[in-house]
Amino acid sequence: MAATIDVAVIGAGPGGYIAAIRAAQLGFSTVCIDEWKNDKGGPAPGGTCTNVGCIPSKALLQSSENFEQAGHQFADHGIGFSKLSIDVAKMLARKKTVVKQNNDGIVYLFKKNKVRFVHGRGSFVGKSDAGYEIAVSGTAPETLTARHVIVATGSSARPLPGVAFDESTILSNDGALSIDHVPETLGVVGAGVIGLEMGSVWRRLGAQVTLLESMPSFLGAVDAQIAAEAHKAFARQGLEISLGAKIERVESGAQGVSVAYVDAGGESRTLAVEQLIVSIGRVPNTVGLAPEAVGLALDERGFVSVDAECRTNLDKVWAIGDVVRGPMLAHKAEEEGVAVAERIAGQKPHVDFNTVPWVIYTHPEIAWVGQTEQQLKASGRTYRVGTFPFMANGRARALGDTTGFVKMLADAETDRILGVHIVGPMASELIAEAVMAMEFKASAEDLARICHAHPSLSEATKEAALAVDKRALNF
Ligand SMILES: Cc1cc2nc3c(=O)[nH]c(=O)nc-3n(C[C@H](O)[C@H](O)[C@H](O)COP(=O)(O)OP(=O)(O)OC[C@H]3O[C@@H](n4cnc5c(N)ncnc54)[C@H](O)[C@@H]3O)c2cc1C
Repeated sequence: MAATIDVAVIGAGPGGYIAAIRAAQLGFSTVCIDEWKNDKGGPAPGGTCTNVGCIPSKALLQSSENFEQAGHQFADHGIGFSKLSIDVAKMLARKKTVVKQNNDGIVYLFKKNKVRFVHGRGSFVGKSDAGYEIAVSGTAPETLTARHVIVATGSSARPLPGVAFDESTILSNDGALSIDHVPETLGVVGAGVIGLEMGSVWRRLGAQVTLLESMPSFLGAVDAQIAAEAHKAFARQGLEISLGAKIERVESGAQGVSVAYVDAGGESRTLAVEQLIVSIGRVPNTVGLAPEAVGLALDERGFVSVDAECRTNLDKVWAIGDVVRGPMLAHKAEEEGVAVAERIAGQKPHVDFNTVPWVIYTHPEIAWVGQTEQQLKASGRTYRVGTFPFMANGRARALGDTTGFVKMLADAETDRILGVHIVGPMASELIAEAVMAMEFKASAEDLARICHAHPSLSEATKEAALAVDKRALNF
């Protein structure tokens, strides 16, 4: 009989593969099981993030951004050329290469850290004195016994009720990342992170993109001032965003897709598009896991129930990432993976959701950490605000990318930074400084006194910190 493993991780997305590496680093015998198949049927570790999420979307965002810049901004730099074109097949091939580099990187990391990778579906079978039994179905079926199990099975796109994804006209994120031509018209149901990113890619390449969002406000979770600035920028780019749209019916056929909806004013409307991306949220993956075989409890929405430390209702069974409550973000999954491996080793790590950064990789980018101004108002906390526009930042002017601003919120009495919100160039990179400042419980003055390189976009963060005390130097 095979030896009992210390830790079995089910799922090799960013939560699972990182948990497995950390467990192995801590000296545990570790197996990571993942069922994702590449187009040749082989293993493709990395989960949603690597295969149909973070990585391919950023590859396409970069390609389409380059195309947009060549078409609209290069001339300002004196760069001219006779004919601009986009080879979608080549763009998709590049995306595929980027994905494969990441898949291969994870295989390498597993080898380096002595994590055994098993390609197949992992399902709970039962529990013995030795541990939990997990059946792995795949090309080489086997049953494993593990003392600890980390469930990291992730999530999948939620379809509209009664409208299945066919990935040719009705697309999930998977199909949205593989459209093989530039559609003339593209509809997107859901103007959240994924909808905006995917809509931006195809709009930049020439599609007429319309987003239908059921919520009455744009990016309701984002600081309202930031969301308003982004909304204006997207409208200028030609992204049509219809808020408060209630979808009534979706029909697809040879002619494309027809979406009947009621707009915010109560008028019935029809949107006719070549293809429709549905990005209305994601559902946890637990079906193949057979949680019922061991009595693993799910919550009313189908997520694996966990406490603040990712413990499930079963002793030594943990769950992390998209399959549990909390933000559906790759870096949140990773942090939980590290923390669980360390808890198994008896350590006392902590993941603070308040300092998890959020990013939307549109243009301008949107990034934030901590509380929004509306949250602070609702909680009754007194605060001071400092904002600094990229228009007044030398590096942004040199880049030719001056849309947006940095906004800092600090406690009115202690000056402790409570939230930082950025809309503008490289917001995804700039937010790291704010996360670090908040992790170290910095005050706005602490940040304002740090020397920042000139000229750099990061000076806008320093200036926003100065502006909290009404003493910005460059604006
Ligand atoms: C288009 C798109 C763009 C995104 N962009 C970003 C971004 O820029 N930044 C960001 O932070 N987040 C982004 N996300 C979200 C991010 O992808 C997820 O939050 C992240 O992948 C969750 O990681 P995870 O490890 O929990 O699960 P997943 O990445 O979903 O991985 C779970 C893995 O488990 C496997 N699995 C499931 N059940 C079983 C089973 N029973 N046996 C074996 N294997 C199983 C799955 O096949 C999968 O490989 C994006 C998502 C999408 C869809």
